[in-house]
Amino acid sequence: TKQSAEVRAQQDAEQGAQDPRGAGEVIEHFIDGRRHGGSERTAPVYNPATGQVAKQVLLASAEEVATAVEAAEAALRGWRATSLAKRTAIMFKVENIIRERTPELAEIVTAEHGKVLSDAAGEIARGLENVQFCTGLMHHLKGEHLEQAATGVDVHQIRQPVGVVACITPFNFPAMVPLWMITTAIAAGNTVVLKPSERDPSASVWIAEAFAEAGLPPGVLNVVHGDKVAVDELLTNPLVKAVSFVGSTPIAQYIYETSAAHGKRVQALGGAKNHMVVMPDADLDGAADAAVSAAYGSAGERCMAISVVVAVGDTADPLIERITERVGKLTIGPGTDPASEMGPLITPQALERVNGYVSGAEAEGATVVVDGTKQEFEGDGFFTGVSLIDHVKPGMKVYDEEIFGPVLSVVRVGSYDEAVRLINSNQFANGTAVFTRDGKTAREYQFDIEVGMVGINVPIPVPIGAFSFGGWKKSLFGDTHMYGPESFNFYTRRKLVTTRWPEPSESQINLGFPTH
Ligand code: NAD
Repeated sequence: TKQSAEVRAQQDAEQGAQDPRGAGEVIEHFIDGRRHGGSERTAPVYNPATGQVAKQVLLASAEEVATAVEAAEAALRGWRATSLAKRTAIMFKVENIIRERTPELAEIVTAEHGKVLSDAAGEIARGLENVQFCTGLMHHLKGEHLEQAATGVDVHQIRQPVGVVACITPFNFPAMVPLWMITTAIAAGNTVVLKPSERDPSASVWIAEAFAEAGLPPGVLNVVHGDKVAVDELLTNPLVKAVSFVGSTPIAQYIYETSAAHGKRVQALGGAKNHMVVMPDADLDGAADAAVSAAYGSAGERCMAISVVVAVGDTADPLIERITERVGKLTIGPGTDPASEMGPLITPQALERVNGYVSGAEAEGATVVVDGTKQEFEGDGFFTGVSLIDHVKPGMKVYDEEIFGPVLSVVRVGSYDEAVRLINSNQFANGTAVFTRDGKTAREYQFDIEVGMVGINVPIPVPIGAFSFGGWKKSLFGDTHMYGPESFNFYTRRKLVTTRWPEPSESQINLGFPTH
């Protein structure tokens, strides 16, 4: 039997307070090219598959964060002057290191996050797409030139780095999301302070060391661990010029507002509630496979997970039958076991929260078809089974809130129009998918739906690295999407230069406003 999350958290905090260095390894900061100790404040890092506190992570004070920011500021001058050829060579090298040592990094991700090893390797591959994109940094940083804009006058635009950039990342993609941000920021000539999630912070340190091995000079990429204290220093320190954030919506909104109030450029990606519409003409077996993969992969802890199936017309019953059949065969277990298809949740608090949505669903008027909370697991890992809930409606907690666990809801609607109205009324708008065999319906859906990323018979439409990633509404605060071409806009300032080389004899005084 599991202890209540609160009791567990209390005991773990006490363990940390009594003997911060006692519970195994201490995860240190990485500042100015080397690992860096810090103050005594720490947080427990679990192995979610065993439920044990495996490590402690340092939680930086504001002063310690300021030290990292100053290291980044000190490195800025040299790094922005570094030739693009040298930067490109570093990108190729780090791509090689991460690709060749993917199994090593995947093990670190699995040990602290819990996801299965193949899924960890998958997130690393998706993160590497942005490193590959950044090997083309010479192309992405090209400016524009206009000859003879006025008589004898040329205009050109150059892209320059913004300065010190803060990158603040969530627990659910401890390798991919840092790679989305830091790689482009560095490629564009900025220096970085990365503040990864304190729940699974080791992957970020590993990545920073890989960049150092690839030849990145000290101070260009720094990692500080911490909580709100560290984040608040990053949001208010005047040396930080831009903030990239991915996490939950309330924090994203806070990051957006606080950074903007302190004069910083900011992009803050938030939470999600991703709907998958199944039309009556869809291939129901294919749709059921897609729903199961996209809802329960990584235990539903993906910002692009499908959490709601919108069954149009009479598709609900046959679809639920097919999904139920498939979930009965899923293997849930430690991420290190090759037989496991789904691992545990991240913390005891997450387990209690996710299970709470399922146990409360019937009282809200929904029907729990598969109750994962009843599944028994050996040991103290943060495991839960997968759940499927039918007759879900807006107004129920299970529909209105982001669950971020292996819980799939089914909303029954009568028509395509009703499906679109439902989705367009939702506060979140990260991803969505439509399953149909009809091209016209698919094209209409793409036109009608107010969501940032759309899949047509593709359940998790995360854009490939040549495009950028971002939702709409409360899934993204700001206007620039993450990684790919838009991120080169975010991490550079455009400078316009107007040039004229007149003959000395042409010189004259003219107080009028310059026109062409
Ligand atoms: P979170 O918002 O709790 O934490 C994200 C980061 O913010 C962490 O580094 C954390 O230390 C920091 N933070 C937490 N509370 C803070 C506070 N009060 N003040 C300042 N900083 C604070 O998110 P999480 O639980 O780590 O990640 C899961 C969430 O991230 C989900 O909502 C998920 O949808 C979202 N997410 C979104 C995307 C996307 O692309 N839109 C991608 C991945 C995850």
